[in-house]
Amino acid sequence: MPYSEYWNPKNETLSREQLQALQLNKLRRLCAWAYSNSPFHRRRFDAAGFRPEQLQTLDDLRRIPFMTREEWMDSQAEKPMFGDLLSTDPTRAIRYHLTSGTSGRTPLRVLDGMKDWDWIAEMWCYGFWGFGVRPEDVVYFAFGYGSFIGFWGAHYCCEKIGALVIPGGSQTTEGRVTQIAEMGVTTVCSTPTYAMRLWQQAQQMGIDLANKSRVNKVILSGEPSGSIPAVKRQLEEAWGAKCGDTAGMTEIGTIMIFECSHQPGGTHIIEDHFIEEVVNPETGEPAPYGELGERVVTSFGRGFIPLIRYRSKDMVVKIPHDSCGCGRTGDIYDGGIRGRWDDMKLIRGTNVYPRAVELIVREHEVIEEFQVYIWRKDNLQDEITIKVELKPGQETDWEQLEKKMAAELAGAHEGLRFNIERVDHGNLPRFELKAKRLVDDRPKAEYSRNPDSPNQ
Ligand SMILES: [Zn+2]
Repeated sequence: MPYSEYWNPKNETLSREQLQALQLNKLRRLCAWAYSNSPFHRRRFDAAGFRPEQLQTLDDLRRIPFMTREEWMDSQAEKPMFGDLLSTDPTRAIRYHLTSGTSGRTPLRVLDGMKDWDWIAEMWCYGFWGFGVRPEDVVYFAFGYGSFIGFWGAHYCCEKIGALVIPGGSQTTEGRVTQIAEMGVTTVCSTPTYAMRLWQQAQQMGIDLANKSRVNKVILSGEPSGSIPAVKRQLEEAWGAKCGDTAGMTEIGTIMIFECSHQPGGTHIIEDHFIEEVVNPETGEPAPYGELGERVVTSFGRGFIPLIRYRSKDMVVKIPHDSCGCGRTGDIYDGGIRGRWDDMKLIRGTNVYPRAVELIVREHEVIEEFQVYIWRKDNLQDEITIKVELKPGQETDWEQLEKKMAAELAGAHEGLRFNIERVDHGNLPRFELKAKRLVDDRPKAEYSRNPDSPNQ
């Protein structure tokens, strides 16, 4: 019998009415559980005058106060190690993970019970199966298996699917490339940056991944560029494989959205397990379909640490499910995660998101590496410079490229002037995993919009 296209054929194709009824049911149960078992939530619900019994329709969701990362950090600091969020005795946990703790941010400590952990693997199954992973696949994880949750859940999902899992672990890029070629790997899981690094390494070793390896799927996670068309195009060409994006967050469950095999240019939301709201980050008011806003996530699978209306700071644009032809009824984030609210930079009165810059820079395929460099000229004026390295051995009319890119960047940013600077090949930093291509060299205190920002 041929496989179904869906991991969970019933839930992934529920009508919107059925889906919302299911969400309301789960929301009531989650809030009642959190209110009776987690002091953190009880305290906050009481302060907001909210009682779980008030949830009569899905719109009543808005009575529940937003939850922020800052509140979680405060709770953790006041009552180490886990704050008063836990709803279950910590001795019953089976997993401990730390958020990635990008420089300047206090990592959050997360515990999962067996039930939570099994659910996390199940969520990855929606995504991996949806992108075409099957029991016959050989899946390689270019992942270090440390305290950061990363692809841990995806590893277990592949076991659940029945695929053969090859844990890359900590080894050299060369060692990884050798394993991918030798073991007949069909699916590689990696950050977009590292997928390109693996390919470059293979080139140096004389291994033609596009034509001589069995890899036909590259599954991306960890960076917003997994949904940037030019990045995907380059990776698909390099690997001779389809590239699919996924995104998650340690706090909420490690995957919440995924690209299906129809590649709709966005990622489906797993709506039978999450409520994903999009709000205006300034006012907290709901943003309509098609409008950029912040994701606010309620997760039904985490019992140990209940997450309700969590402000993710991810910026997204939601569009209706029927924009994709796969038949799933979960809505879509067009273009995946568009960047992070706290990554936004204010340059001479204009908002700049690093991902929006990358979207334009990556369209120029002669560019190998780049950096967004923000600085202050003569102590007076903020400047933004894009430093670029070209791929070696390619003929380019530099002046024309410089002009074109400056015009495109200005066009996307209310006419803001971008400086374009060419640097010699090999001068910009390369990244093994999560790339950090933005450098803000301005004096700190004056522009700081958020002390928790990872870029400061
Ligand atoms: Zn789809």
